[in-house]
Amino acid sequence: MTWLGWESLGGSFTDDPAVAAWGAGRLDVFVRGTDNALWHKWFQNGWSGWESLGGVLTSDPAVAAWSAGRLDVFARGTDNALWHKWFDNGWSGWESLGGVLTSSPDVSSWGAGRVDVFARGADNALWHKWFDNGWSGWESLGGVLTSGPAAASWGVNRIDTFVRGTDNALWHKWWALVPTVRVHTKILTNPNVAVNTVVQRMREVYATVGVEVQHASTENLALPALNDLDVGDCVRGRTTAQQDQLFANRNNAGPDDVVVYFVRSTVPPFNGCAAHPAGRPGAAVAAGATQWTFGHEVGHVLGLNHVNDNNRLMTGNGTANITNPPPDLVASERDTMVASPFTQDL
Ligand SMILES: [Zn+2]
Repeated sequence: MTWLGWESLGGSFTDDPAVAAWGAGRLDVFVRGTDNALWHKWFQNGWSGWESLGGVLTSDPAVAAWSAGRLDVFARGTDNALWHKWFDNGWSGWESLGGVLTSSPDVSSWGAGRVDVFARGADNALWHKWFDNGWSGWESLGGVLTSGPAAASWGVNRIDTFVRGTDNALWHKWWALVPTVRVHTKILTNPNVAVNTVVQRMREVYATVGVEVQHASTENLALPALNDLDVGDCVRGRTTAQQDQLFANRNNAGPDDVVVYFVRSTVPPFNGCAAHPAGRPGAAVAAGATQWTFGHEVGHVLGLNHVNDNNRLMTGNGTANITNPPPDLVASERDTMVASPFTQDL
């Protein structure tokens, strides 16, 4: 193996070329010509000549190939908007995708039918627009850029972008799936510590181990007969008739979503109880519970057991006795949580 070349491929242009490969033995190279038009040259069993694709570019081009025979080319126009031209059994015309660009665009694709375009905006932030069954609007991703962006996708739902910051350092922002617990709340009696507060406490503690919490829905339930909920001895995998009845209320919840029911009390009196019927992941929380009980009970649903350590969320000594708040989750607990079917990659 060795490097070959250099060989001249001719043409006349003043800024950076862009290249895409859609399969073995195929390359498509694009440049802005000295006439500011887009020019194209490709390799397939030998090099083609230069082909003008027209347009009036004010940046160098970016290109992605999401499958064999498909090319999407982007550049800034004289109006500073993003312009797009694609090849799919022949070249399209030029399409404006709007926006106000202050850099060249870059593009990535994680699979057929998906492209993600990035550019610096007039506010020097990173801006993003994507195609997925139609074009999105422009989304600001913040930051203060002193360069245009570079973007790559190594697989579905993964994008890495790189830019230069005001400190001239390389800065990185990425899109990725995150282990997420989707929680729904059902309220028979409003808890002493507000629902939004206990969800926020849970979110803060779970964030320390990289698990996100989505509060997907909330609903009031008028079920007075279940408001002082018989939880028996509250053992995992064992439920009472009242628990079976209550946990059947899963409006809006997917099969792997966790539903937490706020009741007036449990019988016997506990802060909460995470015993739930099979296929209905959830827990009950009593009105007098602490700010940590919600996250603690969902921790049980995700497979966590009690520990004898009052600095940890899963203390078995009562969450009212937690010292040094916020309480901890440890690495082994994170592993258990992420392995749970009720932690979803979203
Ligand atoms: Zn517990």
